[in-house]
Amino acid sequence: MTAEVLGIGTELLLGDIANTNAQFISQELAALGISVYGHTAVGDNRARLTAALEHSFSKADMIVACGGLGPTLDDITKEVSAAYFGREMVLCEKSWQAIQKRFSGRKLSHNVKRNAMVPQGSILLPNDYGSAPGVCIEQDGKTLILLPGPPHELKPMFTQYAVPFLRKKTNLAFVSRTLKIVGVGESQVETILSDLIEAQTNPTIAPYAKLTEVALRITASATDETAAKQLIAPVAKEIYNRLGQHIYGEGDACMASDILQRLESLNHTLAIAESCTGGLLTSAFVDIPGSSNVLMEGAITYSNAAKTARLGISNEMLATYGAVSPQVAAAMAEGVARTSGTSIGISTTGIAGPGGGTVDKPVGLVYIGMHINGKATQTKELRLIGDRNEIRARAVVAAMDMMRLAL
Ligand code: ATP
Repeated sequence: MTAEVLGIGTELLLGDIANTNAQFISQELAALGISVYGHTAVGDNRARLTAALEHSFSKADMIVACGGLGPTLDDITKEVSAAYFGREMVLCEKSWQAIQKRFSGRKLSHNVKRNAMVPQGSILLPNDYGSAPGVCIEQDGKTLILLPGPPHELKPMFTQYAVPFLRKKTNLAFVSRTLKIVGVGESQVETILSDLIEAQTNPTIAPYAKLTEVALRITASATDETAAKQLIAPVAKEIYNRLGQHIYGEGDACMASDILQRLESLNHTLAIAESCTGGLLTSAFVDIPGSSNVLMEGAITYSNAAKTARLGISNEMLATYGAVSPQVAAAMAEGVARTSGTSIGISTTGIAGPGGGTVDKPVGLVYIGMHINGKATQTKELRLIGDRNEIRARAVVAAMDMMRLAL
């Protein structure tokens, strides 16, 4: 099977945006064993878009196009495609209902219904992150897939809905492994693996940044599943060699659950004292069924007075070092373990912002304390970025990562 990738939008031609969707689509098609014969970019112009469809279909069986699906008058992709195949535009009830649900309680603008208009007889690709659905039209041995322009809508739509559709068209078996990575950001992962990512064909390697971690998906296609797994194995091994302990698991691995299992097998019990994370760390463990076998208590000691009353931290220590300091983080971890009678105490203290930062102690400065019975108490300094809740979420994952590595 052969394909052409078509980017639609005058912004692309003006150089206002880079055609990153074309790169993503090409990588995904390569992983599906579909040969891409060309990339085209065209403006929001009916005649030139029609000519681009004709030209691309003269070279390949399939066009994967993106952009111009929205409700404004310059969004012409679906109408021009319908005309190209001699079809009417009709209202897709399912999409219209999804849009109304998405905007429930808000006043809909007059043109929003246009999002739900599709060429008659199209296969629908739902948009879980926006209004305009994607569509797929098959006619006379040609396949046209229309995707929305915004990458955060296009990528999940392609992966979740277009890929299963395209897989049915090839005779290949596909296998994916997803490595879950903490403690390094997406760009660092890309740098560490740059030669592998640049050289990728089969398997493909795709990093996906999430708020607190990076998922790295390795996908191979082959004549059968065993052969596909064999293609992935050496690449995965090399990635493990390079990223080492930053990989905490694969697939649906859950760090909190793994930590609890490990603690239980070592007969440890856990208490947590939280300041800036305000209960989020405890909650991440409470999310796991059976956590009560290990987790004894979570104390939110937000004020200095609470740190003193609940954890026994002296006013003198707070005055000397400040609440956001390695000394106080250590004392919080020791204090909560001692007063709860657990073998392990973990603490968080930091400045989540947006206010409260100073030159010495900026927003994003967080200390984690970790006390494990019989060992010297450890602390870790973090310099986190993001808004208040992003900093808090990142602190939680950093605390779990520190525990995971210590056990
Ligand atoms: P919307 O419903 O948001 O209007 P749309 O499907 O009509 O979506 P466009 O209006 O063409 O899409 O583009 C919306 C935005 O998506 C652009 O401003 C740009 O940020 C991004 N975008 C569009 N095409 C591409 C592309 N080829 N590569 C990367 N980003 C793109």
